[in-house]
This record gives sequence, C-alpha cells and structure tokens, in this order.
Amino acid sequence: MPKILRPMDVYKYLPGTNCGKCGEANCMAFATKLIERQVSIEQCPEIFEAKYKDKLEAMREVLRAPVKDVTIGVGDRAVTVGGKVCVYRHELTWYHPTAIAIDVHDEMPEDELVKRVEQVENFVFERIGMQLKLDMVALRCVSGSPEKFAKAADIIGKKSKLPMILCTFNPDVMEEALIAVGDKRPLIYAANERNWKEYAKLASKYQCPLTVSAPGDLSMLKSLCRSLRKYGLDDLVLDPGTYLVGEGFNETINMFTMLRMTAIEKEDKDLGYPLIAVPAAIWLSPKAKEDEASTKMQESYMACALMSRYADILVLHSFDIWVLLPILTWRQNLYTDPRVPLSVKPTIYEVKEPTEKSPLYVTCNSALTYFLIRNDVEAAGGGWIVCVDTGGISLQSSVAGKRFTADMVAETLKETGALEKVKHKSVIIPGYAARISGELEDMLKDWKVFVGPRDSSAIPSFIEKVWKPEMEGK
Ligand code: SF4
Repeated sequence: MPKILRPMDVYKYLPGTNCGKCGEANCMAFATKLIERQVSIEQCPEIFEAKYKDKLEAMREVLRAPVKDVTIGVGDRAVTVGGKVCVYRHELTWYHPTAIAIDVHDEMPEDELVKRVEQVENFVFERIGMQLKLDMVALRCVSGSPEKFAKAADIIGKKSKLPMILCTFNPDVMEEALIAVGDKRPLIYAANERNWKEYAKLASKYQCPLTVSAPGDLSMLKSLCRSLRKYGLDDLVLDPGTYLVGEGFNETINMFTMLRMTAIEKEDKDLGYPLIAVPAAIWLSPKAKEDEASTKMQESYMACALMSRYADILVLHSFDIWVLLPILTWRQNLYTDPRVPLSVKPTIYEVKEPTEKSPLYVTCNSALTYFLIRNDVEAAGGGWIVCVDTGGISLQSSVAGKRFTADMVAETLKETGALEKVKHKSVIIPGYAARISGELEDMLKDWKVFVGPRDSSAIPSFIEKVWKPEMEGK
C-alpha cells in the first residue's frame, strides 16, 4: 500500500503563521492541498525565508513521491509527469496524467513541420466537460546534422509553446539544439551507456531534464541512473525500451511493471522516475507500411496498454483522430479521482436558448450521463435539463440505490425554479426511472410526467413522435 500522508505530517514543516499569502485560509488548509497535489510548495512565499531552510528541505523530502515528478517545458503549456505514489489507481489517485507527444523530424520541409506542430498545439477534443489536449512535440534527428536539428528545434520553439523532446544520441548534435532552445527546458533524449557523461554535462549546463536509455537492460538502466544521480542530476526520465512486435510487447509491459513496482513498493530511489514509452516504434517494423490502418490501430491500443502499465510519457507517430481518441479517453478515465465520481452541479441547465415551450428533462448529476443527454437534447432542438444531486452516481445505480426518487426529483424541480420556466406543465424523466412516474405525478399535482427513452440517443425521435404536451391539454 502507498504511504498515506496526513495533513499534520506536512503542517509541522510550514511556517504556521496562517498569513493567507498562498490563497488558503490557513497553513493546515494548504498542507491538505499539498498532500492532494492541488498546490505546490512554491505557492507559500513564507517558507522560502532563510530561517525556514531546514524545514523546507524536510518538507520536500516528506512530499517527494516514490516516482519523482519532473517538469518539461516552461510557461502555461509546461507539463509535469511522474509524481506517482501508488502502483494501483484504486489505492489513491494517479497524479500528473501521461503526457502525449507527437513526433516530427528535422528533414521535414519547414511548412510541413510548422503545420504539424500547430495542429498538435491546437488539437482539442471536448468530453464530459473537459478539454482533452496533446502535450508535447518529439523532434527526431534523422539528418545527423547539428545545424538542421538546431534549426528545426528553433522553428518549433518560435512557433509554439509546446514542450519539446529532443531526440538524438549524438552529444554534438544535441548541444546545437540546446543552444537554440535550452532555455525552454526540453526533455533531452537520451543518455545511454556510451554517451552518459557528455549528456550529464549537457543536462547540468542547460538545466534540462534527461532521459536515461538502456533498451531491454534494467540493470544497466539502474546503474546509469545511479551514476547520474551521483553527478547531481535528479530530473530523470527512464526509457527501458519499447518493443511492440510479437513477444516483445509482453516483455515491454513486464519491464514497465517491474520498474514501477520496484520504485514504489521497494522504494528504489535509483528507479523512482517517470517512464517514457514510444508506441511510434511500431512504424520501424518492416511490415508497418503494408497495412497502415492495422499499424495505426496497433499503435493506438499499445499506447493505451502502456499507459495502464505505467508510461508517464507516450511518443506517437499517428495523428488520426480515431487513433488519438481511444488514448485520450483512456487517459481521462485513468486519471480521474477513483474516490469521487465525475459530476456536474445539481441545477438547471439551458440547452440552445430554451423558451417556456421547450421540453423540460430531468436526470442525475453524473457528468457522463449529463453530457451524453445534453448532446441528444441539442440534437432534439434544445430544452431545459434539471440535474438531481445523486452524488455523481449514474442513473441506473441512483434509481436502484434510491438516490433518484420521486420526492428528490420534485424537490429539485422546485428548488431550481424549473416549474416556473415552462408553461406546458410537463416534465420528461429517463426511461430507467419509469417506476417513479406515478408518485411524481401525484406530487406535482396538475403536471404531466412523460417517461422518456432509456437510451438518450432516442430523445430526438421521442420529442418528435411522443412528446405532445399541448395535445394533453396542458
Ligand atoms: S502562505 Fe505559507 S505561511 Fe502563509 S498561510 Fe499559506 S502555508 Fe501558511
């Protein structure tokens, strides 16, 4: 089990002045949020006074996750990866979602390079009220030329705020790129058994995070990490190799699992760093181009599997929406708090400027249910949606668990002012809540209760064919 911190474990290292400069009511509230990773130490200006130096160091040690958090990039698109405190998501929340990078290379024509980077930066898909985005660009050196590599890095740095991964094993090529964009804190990829001394100097000189690569050799990986830590580097990312063909994929999953378990359960500090996986490597297979659709599909599901087993960074090649959506959706699911169901505020929502003649729907406040229904109500021409507070629990479970009852619905309709919004005096309840329709009609007196479809995708046809409140004389 993960080491569970209590607010007092952290509070004792804070100044205790309750000055409120961090935006919290007092130091205890700040300590609670520090444990939940909702704030960072840097938000307490007081702790950086010289007199608190020892306390600050002690607090950093207490808060250090078994898998260290590493920040890549600068500004508002910087990403932090790692910071994991548990192996299994149900033990505690997984913090810092897997960062997704799309690859580009230094032989791409400039306009093509800029276009792809802009597409990555502007990509956004909205799901359950959240914006799902891509996070980084991985620049591969295929030219072997320091000038070309540096120029491509410079173009990306000037055109985009996205953090970069600079990929070459040649320290001379790497340094040219770092001269151009080192101030943007790119992730250096990668130090290996041959070049690690040169890469250690570069990471130290430019103050950038460094990837450590030892494909298929975890002993070598550990040994390299130990040497780099002795050198004073602590912002490391581990690359144990990504093998995707045949038995290689099992081996990859096993390596990732062993690394994460060793870091957290055995508290091995040499291996307590974020992991990078490269599903894009599927394109190195000689048969990859023979059936591109199949290769893309493999890249997508292997990325999902690697994210589950415990990749903190994924480098992808494919940029098709159907490849990305399963990965982004899976990331969203993995990185929600398992202790709190995703919910929306229990209130009344307007869809497409509804009027007093628009339909009035009622449902639970599970975010997934609400956003699904909202789309279907929109397709049906709009209306009012009232969400009953079911604690974010889905509709079927709420009905079964008596968290969506006739009196709760009647009360919410009154509290939200929904009964005054429409003149037709009719309300539509979900098909799965049909059993409460009679009781609800009794409670609402002269109102008509319609039982809607079980599947919300049938709402448009329900409105067209069934919902005729004016014909009911209401
Ligand atoms: S800024 Fe620091 S000292 Fe002030 S209340 Fe917040 S945690 Fe306490």
